[in-house]
Amino acid sequence: MKKLILIFFIPFSFACIAQQSYKRTLKLMGSRFDITVVADDETNANVEIDRAIAEITRIERLISSWDANSQTSEINRNAGIRPVKVEAELFQLIERAINISKLTDGAFDITYASMDKIWKFDGTMKEMPGEKEIANSVAKVGYDKIILDKENSTVFLKAEGMKIGFGAIGKGYAADQAKNLLMAKGVPAGIINASGDMNTWGKQPNGEEWQVAITNPMDKSKSYGLLPITDGAVVTSGNYEKFVEFNGTHYTHIIDPRSGMPSSGIISVTVFAPKAELADALATSVFVMGVEVGLNRINQLPKVECIIIDDTGKVFTSDNIQIKKL
Ligand code: ADP
Ligand code: MG
Repeated sequence: MKKLILIFFIPFSFACIAQQSYKRTLKLMGSRFDITVVADDETNANVEIDRAIAEITRIERLISSWDANSQTSEINRNAGIRPVKVEAELFQLIERAINISKLTDGAFDITYASMDKIWKFDGTMKEMPGEKEIANSVAKVGYDKIILDKENSTVFLKAEGMKIGFGAIGKGYAADQAKNLLMAKGVPAGIINASGDMNTWGKQPNGEEWQVAITNPMDKSKSYGLLPITDGAVVTSGNYEKFVEFNGTHYTHIIDPRSGMPSSGIISVTVFAPKAELADALATSVFVMGVEVGLNRINQLPKVECIIIDDTGKVFTSDNIQIKKL
């Protein structure tokens, strides 16, 4: 998948330093993942990369709404019927997702997922959904209709036909967990890159910070600037990967849960945050909130920054971002 962000490895050629970075690319959670670790040799690097893959695969089994055997699917199957007992990890992820909904006035909402019955971005959609159809689906959306019972660790979707999905937060969560695991195992540095959603720790083997290049999707030949990232995440949501077009209008895969309509006006949002999970969820949220509200909300959050590009190619940045302009 093409994304806004490209990682730049600063060329390194000092033979006296033993550590190197090793990278493997594979498909996980339906997306391309590049896992990079800094290690003494290839054998050690492979052990650590395998560990990260096992962790991401484990999380995918828990949270996937495509996999009929996941606890998430069980919650969805029982919407309007009964509460479902889930692992603490899934319960807490849902709790955090609901907190992000509150923070974004419902722009972010994991119950958007019931809308996937009317908006399909896999090429099967032939016409615009009707107003009534959209209204019926919106009626099933709403994070306030997720009933959590902490004591019994159960999740209940109140309305029949409701559904949750972690499309906008799952890859970030998995990247955080993989990073935490490798850090705990003593891996000094690395990058978990989930289709351009990047999570880094430590430094490059040459002692430099990892850097990301920000490119403008309107003109991919030009880099907008370089940013160092240390122990943090940078995530981009774009409108140019999954979308449908009707009568010359571009409808992207990020839906405003309140109107049931795809969000418009923004081409890409890049969010920097200490954790990939928050960055992932906020990138999607800013899309829905729009430039003004989105910037305002991001500026209120400590250690969170963003870069927004609107559909005229105009670039907006949050107050405290420091980009090394090229
Ligand atoms: P990606 O990086 O996979 O392109 P994003 O992080 O931008 O995606 O998230 C988009 C995905 O999030 C959609 O494909 C859908 O699964 C889900 N989604 C769409 N709208 C919302 C929303 N308002 N709140 C939460 N999740 C959403
Ligand atoms: Mg996201």
